[in-house]
Amino acid sequence: MLTNIPGYPRIGSQRELKKACENYWSGKMSLEKLELTARQLRKQNWDTLQAAGIDLIPSNDFSFYDQVLDMCLMLGVIPARFLPLQQTLANPACLELYFAMARGYQKNGFDITALEMTKWFDTNYHYLVPEFEAAQTYRLLSRKCVEEFKEALRHGITTKPVLIGPLTFILSGKIKDDTHQAALLEKLLPVYIQLLTELHAAGAEWVQLDEPFLVTDLEPAVKALYQVAYAAIHAALPGLKILLTTYFGGLEDNTALALQLPVQAWHIDLVRAPAQLADVLSRIPAHGRLSLGIVDGRNIWKNDYTESIALVTQACNSIGADNIMLATSCSLLHCPYDLDAETDMDPQIKQWMAFARQKLAEVNDLKSIMNGRHGLLEHNQAVMSGRKTAASIHIPAVKERMQHIAPADMQRQHSFAVRQPLQHAALNLPVFPTTTIGSFPQTAAIRQLRADLKKGVITREAYDADIRAAITHTIRLQEKLDLDVLVHGEFERNDIVEYFGEQLQGFVFTQQGWVQSYGTRCVKPPVIYGDVIRPHTMTVDWSSFAQSLTSKPVKGMLTGPITILQWSFVRNDQPRMQTAFQLALAIRDEVKDLEDAGITVIQVDEPALREGLPLRNARKAEYLEQAVQAFRLAVSTVADSTQIHTHMCYASFNDIIEHIAAMDADVITIETSRSQLEILAAFAQFRYPNEAGPGVYDIHSPRVPAVAEMEALLHQAARLLPARNIWVNPDCGLKTRQWAETEMALRNMVEAAKQARSQW
Ligand code: GLN
Ligand code: ZN
Repeated sequence: MLTNIPGYPRIGSQRELKKACENYWSGKMSLEKLELTARQLRKQNWDTLQAAGIDLIPSNDFSFYDQVLDMCLMLGVIPARFLPLQQTLANPACLELYFAMARGYQKNGFDITALEMTKWFDTNYHYLVPEFEAAQTYRLLSRKCVEEFKEALRHGITTKPVLIGPLTFILSGKIKDDTHQAALLEKLLPVYIQLLTELHAAGAEWVQLDEPFLVTDLEPAVKALYQVAYAAIHAALPGLKILLTTYFGGLEDNTALALQLPVQAWHIDLVRAPAQLADVLSRIPAHGRLSLGIVDGRNIWKNDYTESIALVTQACNSIGADNIMLATSCSLLHCPYDLDAETDMDPQIKQWMAFARQKLAEVNDLKSIMNGRHGLLEHNQAVMSGRKTAASIHIPAVKERMQHIAPADMQRQHSFAVRQPLQHAALNLPVFPTTTIGSFPQTAAIRQLRADLKKGVITREAYDADIRAAITHTIRLQEKLDLDVLVHGEFERNDIVEYFGEQLQGFVFTQQGWVQSYGTRCVKPPVIYGDVIRPHTMTVDWSSFAQSLTSKPVKGMLTGPITILQWSFVRNDQPRMQTAFQLALAIRDEVKDLEDAGITVIQVDEPALREGLPLRNARKAEYLEQAVQAFRLAVSTVADSTQIHTHMCYASFNDIIEHIAAMDADVITIETSRSQLEILAAFAQFRYPNEAGPGVYDIHSPRVPAVAEMEALLHQAARLLPARNIWVNPDCGLKTRQWAETEMALRNMVEAAKQARSQW
C-alpha cells in the first residue's frame, strides 16, 4: 500500500514566496535570489513529505504564481498580445513573460493586459485563464516540470510530477475564435506527449494528470475527447504510469468513462463523495490501482480514522491492499501549512484540527493502522468522541432555536408591492435615489488604528474616538455631496467576514493559517468550529452613532450568512447549510436590534452567494433555494416600512436571477459597470420586481467617471427597468480607493442622478 499526496502548499509557511515575489517585482530582490528562495521552498516541501513517510511525493506542484499559468508556459499557449514582448526577451519562456501574463505589463513602451483570473472550481483559489486562439501554434516552451523533477532527483528523491491533464486544461481556458476543442486537443497533444516523454526519460515512474473536470457534467463530445487524449498518451508512452486524478466531487455518470481510460491508477475524492467507492471498485480493471482521497484537502479538521478505515478496508477487500494508495482528497494547496504554528489557540479546539503537515501524518497513520497499529485508531476515536459531545460546540439553546424555525420566519409581513409605498413614505427619497455600498477609503491611518487596538498600543476609548471622528467626517462629506442614503463607512472592519466572526461565539482565528487566494495574495479564513451565538450586538453602536449625526437615513451594514460561510473553514460535523442557518439567526438578531435602534435601511451583503454553487447542475437549485432561505431568515424580522438592501459583486446573474428575486430584498445593488447592459437585460427579461442599483461606476480603478457617462447608463437602465425602481450607486465598496478620487466620482454620480431626475 502506497501513500500519495496530490500537491502541497507552496507559498511558504512564513509566506516566503509571497514576500520574495513582491520584492522581486518592486526591484528589491534579484532574480537569482528569487530563484534561490523557490529552490529552498521546494526542497523544504520534499523533505517534509519524505520525512512524513509519503511514497508518491509531488513535484511541479510548486508555482511562482499559478499552476495553470505554468501549463500555458510549458505548452506554449501564449496570447498574441504577448508576442511582441516575447520577441524582445532573450529567453522566450522566462519569468518576465510569465509575470507579464499574470499581472499585465506596462513597461518599455508596452501596455499589455494580464490573463483573466477566475475561481478554480468551487475553491477560493483563483487561476489564470488560458486563452486559446486559432492562429496559435504550440511547442514545448518551458520544461519546468522536467527541471523540478531533476532538481528533486539531485536531492535523492524520485518525485511524481503533477500536470494539469489535457482536457481539464482545455476546459479551464477560453477559446477566443472559431477553434473548437477537438482541433485544440490535436494541437496540444503532441506537446503533452513530448513533455511526458522527457519526464519518462528523466526517470519519472509515475506522473499525475489532474482531471477534476471529470467530476462535472460533461458534453458527449468532451467525453469522446477524453478517450482520444488518453489513448494517444498511452500509445506513445506505454511504459509511463499515469495517475489520473479527480477531486472536488464524485465521478458519478463519468465513472465508466474515467475507468475505461488506459491509465494505471485513478485518484478519487472520498471526502466529498464517499459513496462513489463501490461503483469505482466494481469497474476498476484488473491490476488497476486506486488512490483513495480520504483525508480532507479542503478543510482543517482532523480525520475521523474510523470512517476512513472503513473505506480503506472496503477497497482492500475488493482489489487487494497492493493496489491501494492512501491519499488526501486533493492537493493540500487549499490548507494552511502547520497547526504547530498556532501557539495561541484554545487547546481543546486545536486538538480537533489538522493542517497540511498534520494531514501527511494522518495519511501515514491510516497506513500504519491497516498494518496493525491499533493504538493510533483508539487515540483518534477518543478525540472524535470528545468533539461529538463537547459543550463548547454543542449549545442546546441554538439547537432548540434551529428546531423552531418556521416558514413565517423567512417571510416578510407583506409582499414587496405593499412594502414599497410604505418605505417610500417613510424614507421620502427622490426618484433615482443615490447611495454607496458601505465602505469608504481605508487609509493607512485607519488600518494602523485597528492594528494598534489589537496590539493594545491604544485604549479602547482612544480607538472609539478616532473611529467616531472618521464616521463623522464621512457623514458630513456625504451630506455635502447630497447623497440620499448614507453609510457610516465601515472603518472598524478589517474584512467583512472577520469582523463578524470575531464577535460571534463558535468562531476561532488562526495566527498563521494562510491559504493562497491568487498569486501572492493569501487569506486567513476564520474557522467556524461550533454552534454560533451572538453574545452582544455587533454593529448597533456604530450605526446609531452615525444616524445620530444626520437627519438622512444611514444604512445599517451587515454580512450575510452565505458569505460568512463561504469565506470560512466550516465545521464538518453537521451539514454546511445548518451552519448557514445558525449564522442567519445571529444576523437576524442584529437586524432586529438595528431596527429597534431606529435604523430604517439595513443592508445585508451576500457577495459570495454564487461561490457556493455546486459543481453539478442537478444540485444547483437545491443549494440556491437553501441559500435564499438563509438570507430571508436573516432579514425577514423587520417591519414592512424598513427597507432591506443586499449587495452582490460578480458579473454573471443570468442563470440565477429567479433566485435573486426570491431573496426578496427591497433593493439590490450589483456590480455591473463592466457589462451594464448584459446584466440589466437579464433583470429586465425576468421582470425583476424589486428595486435595483446597477453600479454606475467601476470602483476597481481610480478613474473618475464623467457625469454624462453615468447619466447615459441611468437612461439605459430606465429603458429596461421601471424608473422608480432604479438606484444610483457605485458597483462595490470604496475601501480600496483614495479620498480625492472618491469625492470627485461621487460628486459626478450625484450630479448624474439629478440630471436624470430632472428629465423624468
Ligand atoms: N459593504 C461592503 C463594502 O462596501 C461590501 C463588500 C463586498 O461587496 N465585497 O466594502
Ligand atoms: Zn461588492
